[in-house]
Amino acid sequence: MSDDIFKKIISHAKEYGFIFPSSEIYDGLSAVYDYGQYGSELKNNIRKYWWKSMVQMHSNIVGIDAAIFMHPTTWKASGHVDAFNDPLIDNKDSKKRYRADVLIEDYAEKQFEKAEKEIEKAKKRFGDTFDEALFRSTNPRVLEYRQKGEDATAKMAALLDANDLDGLKKHIEDLEIVCPISGSRNWTDVRQFNLMFDTKIGSVSEGAETIYLRPETAQGIFVNFMNVYKTGRMKIPFGIAQTGKAFRNEIVARQFIFRMREFEQMEMQFFVRPGDEMKWYESWREERMKWHLAMGIPAEKYRWHKHEKLAHYANAAADIEFDFPFGFKELEGIHSRTDFDLTAHQTHSGKKLQYFDPETNESYVPYVVETSIGLDRTFLAVFSHAFEEQTLEDGSVRTVLKIPPFLAPIKVAVLPLVKKDGIPEVANKILDDLREDYMVQYDEKDAIGRRYRRQDAIGTPFCITIDYETLENNTVTIRHRDSMEQRRIPAAELSAYIASELKPKKT
Ligand code: ATP
Repeated sequence: MSDDIFKKIISHAKEYGFIFPSSEIYDGLSAVYDYGQYGSELKNNIRKYWWKSMVQMHSNIVGIDAAIFMHPTTWKASGHVDAFNDPLIDNKDSKKRYRADVLIEDYAEKQFEKAEKEIEKAKKRFGDTFDEALFRSTNPRVLEYRQKGEDATAKMAALLDANDLDGLKKHIEDLEIVCPISGSRNWTDVRQFNLMFDTKIGSVSEGAETIYLRPETAQGIFVNFMNVYKTGRMKIPFGIAQTGKAFRNEIVARQFIFRMREFEQMEMQFFVRPGDEMKWYESWREERMKWHLAMGIPAEKYRWHKHEKLAHYANAAADIEFDFPFGFKELEGIHSRTDFDLTAHQTHSGKKLQYFDPETNESYVPYVVETSIGLDRTFLAVFSHAFEEQTLEDGSVRTVLKIPPFLAPIKVAVLPLVKKDGIPEVANKILDDLREDYMVQYDEKDAIGRRYRRQDAIGTPFCITIDYETLENNTVTIRHRDSMEQRRIPAAELSAYIASELKPKKT
């Protein structure tokens, strides 16, 4: 998908009340967004779908709602105070700030693109006789570009591992990377930048303690481990789930709601017997992929990315990547976090955070497998996949959001064909009957074709038209968003019919 389509998706989201820039009347706030009247419905529906699959459908998983503010020692124990950093670098001419690692990754990406361009050129030149695999593996230019890209990222990874910030700057200079704005190579030193937002608690600022806005929801679960285990009479293996806001002072904020400074996570920490974690890691990988596929988005839009370089707390980790309009990027992480977090909190708090296993008569710190997904990123995945501009048989163009019906903000629009002869009254009666169960909308303005287009643009799966025949025999026309097919059914059967169409696939 091109940049162009991505721009259209962003403006569609705004024009139709899904996503607005935050505090837009003051020109917005970078990487912060507000969800509008339809956006918040879609977001709620995705959250509900996650909660149902993770909590309601599992008798051994419970949900909590921990506070955003936590005791500051939490973040010392978790490693965030010391290690939740990104390396940043400023260009002295443009005064723009970049992530040093992102500059290098972009450089590598450009080399790979150059290699692809060589291949495209050769394809055109040689036509049918072109052997792409051979060209890829032997053409010196292709090999050189690819090697350059790979060397750049490999060296970067080694420098980051060694925390060699001077080396990182030199690497950027050696690669002759220029600022995309000023075009200059006038760089500052590289510094580590902590991504946590801090603020003060207390009524006076003197003596007030620095606290953080949580950068992930997971820690609210770890610190409540004993509370939930005891009060919920939980037996291992068991999980604790939560959805909620997280905050990161991202240096490079771009790509719309993909990378935000305030966002929402949906996380589940699954506590298991030490030694069992790989089995559960595999099983959660499988289950989480099924969750994505049950939305009806095709499998080729997803792929796995296994982490080669693991975080300090993990012994296995993989991401589910989604094919966003700007390419495959992380959507969800499945991590085997060992006993790192609970042990760290045990040490810092001096409180025992252990499970007594009645089967083995032993106490231990459980191991953890977590599934961590961004709600906003899932929104972007669903929304960008749903967006379609179609040229119809009559040559007109319709913009339709093919949102999975069970996630659509408005499920049913009720449209009286004319505004007289008692038809609006009948339409309103049908609307009120459906309102109990579904988000509905009434629209009597403009020609029917324009009303359909408005509903297509917000992804409403069903439009119901009321006409003179309804007055005679109490039947209505139901129109399907994707196929645009219409059929007549008795008004009394509407609710049951819609219910049957709105179920996600079973996971
Ligand atoms: P990235 O590498 O893209 O920064 P991450 O590996 O730091 O992401 P995690 O810490 O594993 O992300 O967080 C889990 C999930 O939270 C991610 O898979 C993503 O969906 C979501 N997420 C993380 N950071 C952001 C952000 N700044 N904006 C929106 N969603 C985010």
